Amino acid sequence: MPTPEAGSVRGRRAVRLSVVDPATGETFDEVLDQQPGELDDVVARAERAWRGWRADPVARTAALRGAADAVEGAADGLARLLTREQGKPLAESYAEVARTAARLRYFAGLAPRTRRIDDGRPVHSEIRWRSLGPVAAIVPWNFPLQLAAAKFAPALAAGNTVVLKPSPFTPLATRLLGSVLASALPEDVLTVVTGREPLGARLVSHSGIRHVTFTGSVSTGRAVAGAAGVSLARVTLELGGNDAAILLDDVDVDGIADRLFWGAFRNCGQVCMAVKRVYVPARLHAEVVEALAQRAKTVAVGSGLDPESRLGPVNNAPQLARVVQVTERALADGARAASGGHRLDGPGYFFAPTILTDVPPGSPVVADEQFGPVLPVLPYGSVDEAVDAANGTGFGLGGSVWGTDLDRAGAVADRLECGTAWINHHAELSLAQPFAGVKDSGVGVAGGPWGFYGNLRPFVVHRPREA
Ligand code: NAD
Repeated sequence: MPTPEAGSVRGRRAVRLSVVDPATGETFDEVLDQQPGELDDVVARAERAWRGWRADPVARTAALRGAADAVEGAADGLARLLTREQGKPLAESYAEVARTAARLRYFAGLAPRTRRIDDGRPVHSEIRWRSLGPVAAIVPWNFPLQLAAAKFAPALAAGNTVVLKPSPFTPLATRLLGSVLASALPEDVLTVVTGREPLGARLVSHSGIRHVTFTGSVSTGRAVAGAAGVSLARVTLELGGNDAAILLDDVDVDGIADRLFWGAFRNCGQVCMAVKRVYVPARLHAEVVEALAQRAKTVAVGSGLDPESRLGPVNNAPQLARVVQVTERALADGARAASGGHRLDGPGYFFAPTILTDVPPGSPVVADEQFGPVLPVLPYGSVDEAVDAANGTGFGLGGSVWGTDLDRAGAVADRLECGTAWINHHAELSLAQPFAGVKDSGVGVAGGPWGFYGNLRPFVVHRPREA
């Protein structure tokens, strides 16, 4: 069986990267810290594998369905490792593994459609679709497996090969996933490489890479877009978000409080399209703060391996430092913590689920992406004011509107400048929908047939009309 962690250090002592369990703060394993120079061989092998992989769509579909079965068969090992290195509760890791397999199955079922343009000329044009070549997939640490699958499943289904780089904070489950997929896919069709920023930087500027599909922060996204400019590879960027939830004055606070809370706190708030700000009519503000703070104070926080835990730790030390910093800054700016507002005692990267009120709008916890278990709840006077505030950041990933009159809520949702808007819930996605952020939240389209075609190029043949 080929090793998916290809490009290992040949003839030199391997350098290792430590992996920390965020529930304990202690190193528990390591992976290769691969060096940029190793990528020439990895990409050349991906290029060779592409020639066979692109040639047989029927075999491809079967292999991808087999890969989905293999992922489901390995769910126990994948989910446990994911919880160890990422921190999320085990039940959520199982759900993430299931979503990984679902993406493989969904995209395995798609095929490009050949179209003929017959516009009265003496020739007609036939539009066919071709794969691109080796694709670089770069993912962050919040959903390592499902975000990787959201990239490699459409890329592979379209006939490309993939070099996948996970975050150095969460490489282990991805490395295991690579081994599992290697049992179902031909050699070098999917290669997992592990390493730090220089490895990613080299991968996205490598001349053999034809599409860079990146998920991560806005600042790294800018660097990736610049680097891919060197190779002129196609670029798809799924970047940060600062989603607003606007509650209307006819909202049923009790009826929506659980959904709203989990829209913000799932995966410890480390979700690109989590609710990151809540706008509430001034007269309902105290009631909403109370409903959310009560949940934040009582939710079970602990190791993801403990079946009682609903929230795990923040994933890594730099992210915890950021969460502490934006919270302390908000408190210094005059905010009040209705719950939490501090780290939890003991080992690990735990932060108390935090509801903030009286936050000045310019404070970073409102203006930027906090990406952690901290939620500002802001009162508004008029709906126009709330919509302006919701649209008033550089981000444009998602947003939601909550109310009893669905038509009215829908009309407000129409005014949000973002890629996906929800009514009375947040962050639910269909595999068949396009997913695209606006403004700083992204470039290009992922998801559904749009994401699939994003991994193909048109090839047009003009031929004389038959007599
Ligand atoms: P990050 O940008 O720090 O890192 C993402 C990945 O890029 C990692 O694998 C990292 O090693 C790699 N990388 C770092 N420097 C690089 C470079 N110069 N060239 C190429 N690759 C490089 O992001 P993060 O902290 O891991 O993840 C959190 C961010 O991801 C948040 O902003 C979150 O909103 C965003 N995110 C967006 C989506 C989306 O779909 N829009 C989904 C999940 C997370």
